[in-house]
Amino acid sequence: MSSLADLPIRDDLRGLKPYGAPELKVRVALNVNENTHPIPEDVARSIIESVALELRTVNRYPDREFLKLRDSLAAYLNAALVEESAAAGLPVAELTRDNIWAANGSNEILQQILQAFGGPGRSVLGFPPTYSMHPIIAAGTGTEWIPGVRDENFEISPQTAVDWVQRTNPDLVFFCAPNNPTGTPLSLETIAAAYDATDKIVVVDEAYAEFGPSGEPTALSLLEGRPRLIVSRTMSKAFAFAGARLGYLAADPAISDALRLVRLPYHLSALTQAAATAALAHAPEMLAMVDDIKGQRDRMARRLAELGYSPYESTSNFILFGGVPDPHRMFEQLLEREIIIRDLGIPNHLRVSAGTESETTAFLEAMDEITPR
Ligand SMILES: *Cc1c(COP(=O)(O)O)cnc(C)c1O
Repeated sequence: MSSLADLPIRDDLRGLKPYGAPELKVRVALNVNENTHPIPEDVARSIIESVALELRTVNRYPDREFLKLRDSLAAYLNAALVEESAAAGLPVAELTRDNIWAANGSNEILQQILQAFGGPGRSVLGFPPTYSMHPIIAAGTGTEWIPGVRDENFEISPQTAVDWVQRTNPDLVFFCAPNNPTGTPLSLETIAAAYDATDKIVVVDEAYAEFGPSGEPTALSLLEGRPRLIVSRTMSKAFAFAGARLGYLAADPAISDALRLVRLPYHLSALTQAAATAALAHAPEMLAMVDDIKGQRDRMARRLAELGYSPYESTSNFILFGGVPDPHRMFEQLLEREIIIRDLGIPNHLRVSAGTESETTAFLEAMDEITPR
């Protein structure tokens, strides 16, 4: 057996580390921001029926354009978009299947975007600490990762975004709204200002959009008239569908034309298309747990503050908290109690996902025990 170092791998990949959140089987897993609620039984049955039906024709290649799924995703987004835009007094432009593209997780969406608009000799500006996969996908596609610097409390003001765009002239700008791992919301003003400051692509990763304050518009409401803006979404988090792998984007139809040049033919399996379409038909039921999770998130933040930590404002399903003297030790102490959370290497900070009520209780009780007094 040889080692990676002996292989003739690309020079720019030498020494890099793969994505590596631990996959441990423990009682309480609050480390990768999954929706810890299983999908409802009747929805599961409906998905099984759709997948079973699809199996009968699995000898054929799937619909390469996944039209039915795109119709369902557009309808799902429109339900919130129309209400939010009207409430904010913004012009409502309903999305159609032509505005939608999908892939095996939003990570694949981001990869296709970088394959089409990034690549060797090109660069993407991001604002760490942010989603750890953004620089990894950049590296995989040979795109230079430019780390911008955030303001106080991990925020990004319109001026800060514009300054970084003008100073570095990137081929793409990646925002994460709300930001993982900090939970920080991002204003529409910042996104619009960054868009106006460049003639290149602006991507807003909205993996946690459904956990935001209800009725508040997201970057979807900015799409009209902005053909270089891409909003990426996923069914992994709010939709409790992480294992099924379905991510998607909303953008001007020309964006999908670009991605058709780099996607693999038939990249979305017929089974994935069937499962996701069936799940979307039950969207309200699938999302029923979101309010509950938001409640557990707020409960976590309150209790962590009472225990003397500094939780950050979060509009996602997780909390980043500071004031941890030794994050590695606290991570281990929790693991001894069969609870796993995330140590992202941010000094004095840890991140924890909101769980079910009992998981959240288990975490908070453990924190009570191990907090030094
Ligand atoms: C979890 C997460 C995703 C989800 O990726 P999938 O490939 O859709 O599972 C995307 N972006 C961010 C910021 C995330 O935290």
